[in-house]
Amino acid sequence: MYQKNDELTVTIEDQGINGEGIGKVNGYALFVKDTVIGDKCKVKIMKAKKNFAFAKLIEIVEPSKHRVEEKCPVARQCGGCQLQSMDYETQLKFKEEKVFNNLKRIGGLDTCQIPMKEIIGMDEPYYYRNKTQFPVGRNKDGEIAYGFYAGRTHSIIETPGCVLGMRIDGRDVCKEIMDTVISFMKENDIEPYDEPTQSGFVRHVLIRISESTKQIMVCVVTNSNELPEVDKLVEKLKAIPNMTSISINTNKEFGNVIMGSKTVHLFGPGYIEDTIGENKFRISPESFFQVNSKQVEKLYGKAIEYAGLTGEEIVWDLYCGIGTISLSMAKDAKKVICVEIVEKAVEDAKNNAIINKVDNTEFLLGAAEDVVADYFDEEKEECHPDVIVVDPPRKGCDQKLLKTIVSMNPERIVYVSCDSATLARDLAWLKGYGYTFNEVTPVDMFPQTVHVESVALLSKTK
Ligand code: SAH
Repeated sequence: MYQKNDELTVTIEDQGINGEGIGKVNGYALFVKDTVIGDKCKVKIMKAKKNFAFAKLIEIVEPSKHRVEEKCPVARQCGGCQLQSMDYETQLKFKEEKVFNNLKRIGGLDTCQIPMKEIIGMDEPYYYRNKTQFPVGRNKDGEIAYGFYAGRTHSIIETPGCVLGMRIDGRDVCKEIMDTVISFMKENDIEPYDEPTQSGFVRHVLIRISESTKQIMVCVVTNSNELPEVDKLVEKLKAIPNMTSISINTNKEFGNVIMGSKTVHLFGPGYIEDTIGENKFRISPESFFQVNSKQVEKLYGKAIEYAGLTGEEIVWDLYCGIGTISLSMAKDAKKVICVEIVEKAVEDAKNNAIINKVDNTEFLLGAAEDVVADYFDEEKEECHPDVIVVDPPRKGCDQKLLKTIVSMNPERIVYVSCDSATLARDLAWLKGYGYTFNEVTPVDMFPQTVHVESVALLSKTK
C-alpha cells in the first residue's frame, strides 16, 4: 500500500523492545526510531514490507508529553542510549512492560499469574557506568577518533563526553584518558586498528572507575603483541590523578569480541578495587563486574531477600564472576559453592574471599553445565543445595544445567537475569519440573537504554 520514500504523518502508540516507536496509518504499522509514545511526527518510509515498514523520523509535529531533551548531543546517532529522549518514569514503565510481556509471551504465563513487583529505578539515572569501552578508529575526515559505534554498524560516533560514564568528583575521567591516548597516538604515529584490512594497532580502550575507592583502570586493546612507544603512553596515563592500573591486551581476532586472551600489566597491581556494601572487590580487566555500582546493591539486596538465608543453608552461586553475589551471601549461609568459566575471574573471586575474610566459599572453574553435575556427583553428602543462585549471560541457562539444577532438588532458585526473554524461557522450563514461580522484581541497572535486569524467585512446588 505504501512504498519507500513515502512521507506520512503518524502518532506513536507503542514502543518496541528495542525502544523504537510504533504507530499506524490506515492499519499499516510503522516502526520509527527516535520517537516516543505520544509523539505526532512526520516520517519517511525507508523499507516497506507487506504489513509494516521501517521509517525515519523527519520532524516532530507535536512532541509527546513523555519526551525530554536529550542530555547528550549525539544520543540519536550513537547506538548506546536508545531511550534518552523519554522521561525516566516512562522508561521505567517501558521496562516493566518488557519484562511482563516476555513472561506472558515466552513464559506462557497468564496475566494474572505473573507475580511482578514494581521496578527498582535509580535516583540519578546518569553517570552510572563504572566501565566504558571506547572503540578507536578514524572519523570521516580521516582523523584519529574515539566514541561509540552507531547502532548496528562499526562507524564511530564521536562523543563529546558520555553522560552514562561515571565521573570522579565531577571530573570526566573517560575524556581525560581518551584525550591522552589519542594525543599519544598522534604524537607517535600509532595507527588505530582498521577493521577491513585488519591493520593498525589500537582497537579499543577499556576504562574502569570506582566511585568508592576512586581508583581508575585503563586497558588498551591492540591488534599486536607490542605497542610501539608504549612507555611514553604509560608515562602520560600515569600523570592522570587516581590512575591505579594500566595494561595492554592483545586481540588479533576479527570480529565483535573486544578483549583478547593476553593481558600484560604495565603499571599498578593489575586490578582496581571497588566496594559493594561492606565487601571490597578486586577487579581485573578480563573479569565481569556489574556496571552500575549504585543499583547493584539493590539488585543483590533482592537476591539475598529471595534466598531467605538463616545461616544454615548451603548455597550454590552459578555464573559467579568475581564472587560478588557469593560473598554478599556468605555471611548468612553455612557454605557457598561458586562456579565461573573465566579463569581470571575465579582468581579474583578467591582473592576477594581472602580480603573480605570469608572462609566458607569454594570456587570451581569451568562451564556451569559441566562442572556442577560432576562436582555434585562426587560430593553429594556435603553439598546438597538449599538455594541455587544463577546469574547467566544474556543467552540464559544451558538446558543441561537446568536439568542438573532440578536433579539437585534445591528448596529455592534465585534467578538473576539481564535478558527477560531467556529468563521467561527458563522459568517456563523450571515450572514444568516442579518449581513454582513466586516473584520477580525488575531492577533498572541500565537507565537510558532498553536493557533491564530482573531477579526472580522460584521454590519447590508443595
Ligand atoms: N554473578 C556475577 C557475574 C554475572 S555475569 C555478578 O553479579 O557480578 C555472568 C558470568 O557468567 C560472567 O562472569 C561470565 O564469565 C560467566 N559465564 C558465562 N558462561 C558461563 C558458563 N557456561 N559457566 C559458568 N560461567 C559462565
